[in-house]
Amino acid sequence: MQSLRSNSSVIALKGVGPALQKKLERLNLYQIDDLFFFLPLRYEDRTKFSEISSLKIGSRNLVTGKILNSEITFRGRRVLLVNIKDESDEMTLRFFHFSNQQKLQFKEDSYINFFGEVRKGAFGLEMIHPEYQITGKNQNLSTNNSLTPIYPSTDGVQQGRLRSLTNQALNIMHAAPPKELLPKEIYKKFQLPPLAKAINFLHRPPPEANLDEIISGTHPFQQRLVFEELLAHYLSLRKLRNLTVSESAKALKQGKEEIKNFTSELPFKLTEAQMRVTKDILVDLEKPHPMMRLIQGDVGSGKTIVAAIACIKAIASGYQAAIMAPTEILAEQHWHSFSNWFETLSIKPTWLSGSQKVASRRESLDSITSGNAKLVIGTHALFQEGFNFKNLGLVVIDEQHRFGVHQRMALRNKGVSGKNKPHQLVMTATPIPRTLAMAAYADLDTSIIDELPPNRQPISTIAVPETRRNEVIKRVSSACSRGQQAYWVCPLIEESEMLNCQAAEASYKILSEALPNFRIGMVHGRMKPAQKEKAMKDFKDGLTNVLVATTVIEVGVDIPNASLMIIENAERMGLSQLHQLRGRVGRGKVKSHCVLLYKLPLGKIAKERLAVLRDTNDGFIVAQRDLELRGPGEILGSKQTGLPQYRIADIGRDGYLMPKVQIAAESILKNHSSYVPKIIRRWLGETSRYEKV
Ligand code: ADP
Ligand code: MG
Repeated sequence: MQSLRSNSSVIALKGVGPALQKKLERLNLYQIDDLFFFLPLRYEDRTKFSEISSLKIGSRNLVTGKILNSEITFRGRRVLLVNIKDESDEMTLRFFHFSNQQKLQFKEDSYINFFGEVRKGAFGLEMIHPEYQITGKNQNLSTNNSLTPIYPSTDGVQQGRLRSLTNQALNIMHAAPPKELLPKEIYKKFQLPPLAKAINFLHRPPPEANLDEIISGTHPFQQRLVFEELLAHYLSLRKLRNLTVSESAKALKQGKEEIKNFTSELPFKLTEAQMRVTKDILVDLEKPHPMMRLIQGDVGSGKTIVAAIACIKAIASGYQAAIMAPTEILAEQHWHSFSNWFETLSIKPTWLSGSQKVASRRESLDSITSGNAKLVIGTHALFQEGFNFKNLGLVVIDEQHRFGVHQRMALRNKGVSGKNKPHQLVMTATPIPRTLAMAAYADLDTSIIDELPPNRQPISTIAVPETRRNEVIKRVSSACSRGQQAYWVCPLIEESEMLNCQAAEASYKILSEALPNFRIGMVHGRMKPAQKEKAMKDFKDGLTNVLVATTVIEVGVDIPNASLMIIENAERMGLSQLHQLRGRVGRGKVKSHCVLLYKLPLGKIAKERLAVLRDTNDGFIVAQRDLELRGPGEILGSKQTGLPQYRIADIGRDGYLMPKVQIAAESILKNHSSYVPKIIRRWLGETSRYEKV
């Protein structure tokens, strides 16, 4: 043991052979000190016995008592029941799988210690399949002297084995504590406790430790490690950003006149915020390094026009620009808007989507590769196929909900001709709370459009149980008779697109019957692109009064005359999604309304969600509340693609640390840059996952 060092391979530990070593490597555990940072997910308290009368349903406890009797019953299935008594009360242990041998062990009057989750049974408290130890005539009152850590479960490696490995690792750590990788002034400034102390505590918390604090993740020792983990991720994103700066791109220097003409011909004046963000972009584009800029702006803040200006600069400078939209409907809409806007510039956008007919697709590809296509608009198809742009200068990714670091990395290398990378502009559909943005997007430059175009009236939102559907239909009717238009969004059925479409068809039928004087349109995911396009166009042109839709209209759709939005089964949708949907109205001069129809009974979280929407129209507040209610994974997309996967940090809980993390990171980058790779390796593994893509 003495000769082992913290950077020795795990194979040096007792009990580790080649097979286990492989499994450990899959957990990113290569060296002994990797185990230091392999932290428990939770803890169990086996440091003391609990009296039966003190047990709370749902908690996990250690109990000692005497076996009263045991019996096998046959109610539908064979069940072994063991009744236990201690000084305070009685309870039952229930086994569904057991051998006759096992049944015989439970001898009357023997002492037994057992651990498990307390449940409410038919006749009192129960535990199902507890861990247990029968000690016979003698009661054994020895307990663990620290809380029992439960490690992230892993296929084929038992908790007992993980405890033994971490025990060995901790012993080695006592002799040779891990290097402190943060500069001294940071420890002082943020009062961080020593690393070894924190690690030891978290692997083996003493019985007197404040378990509530540990469970909630707010113990100072946890926060010490959280700080370093957030720092590691932040540094790795900053490294990526530096990488971008070292890459080359074409400097796009032309377009001043064109942009001036373009903006002067718009029917409105850009807001201050739009001008500020536009300027950020135009400055970036003139640099010989690829822009990586994220535009955040609430629904309806006018991001599209900003993107259009960027495209003009790219095209005027002799390069191609491409706009990628997340849905076909939105891509279509952009195609129409840009066709209008760019008519005076004699630029006709080229269309590219997955469902395009072969001949038209070939035509598009030809002009993309030849460079005739100056502006290309489409869906993901833009970046999926094996073709190259002639000279792509700018990529705009619009309304990107899910934009994880991996996707960013993958996109960086798409459409690249020669050594020059295109400039990238990403526009998010969902505003992101500031601390979350700091953690997730440190590799990007960000600009925020924090102002809505003038004269927008706030949307008034109400929640109504679906039992009052008829009143809501009346409301639609009276809005339509005033010449206004309405969206009717059908329930989201996550299991199947097919069911979503059926729901839309059912609503379409009901509304057509209930509103015979008005024309009802419908759009859903299984319609042909041409049908979808026609439905959208008819609604835009005012030929239909009501558009029944699935959530395909969630992002981007811009039809200013629509002023009423009905959302069915609103209780099932997330806050950000509801905010997006609601954002389809409130774009014109008429006051808009949103009705959230919900099914009773309403759960607590659903209630809170609906209340948030009722109370605010501000997407940043909605996002902050969404973060608190659902956690960051939901806001940034799935756990794998959105935020970094943290081991111990929880950005919803720990986001408040980000401003400090940022200060520490800048100081380390400036004064102690040799520590950067070490910190990253410690938390992100052998090869930082961001670089592997
Ligand atoms: P989003 O940020 O949600 O993508 P859009 O770009 O679709 O918003 O713009 C929403 C609507 O506001 C569009 O109809 C657009 O023409 C209009 N708009 C954009 N900028 C302004 C402005 N400065 N003044 C008035 N209307 C504007
Ligand atoms: Mg948009």
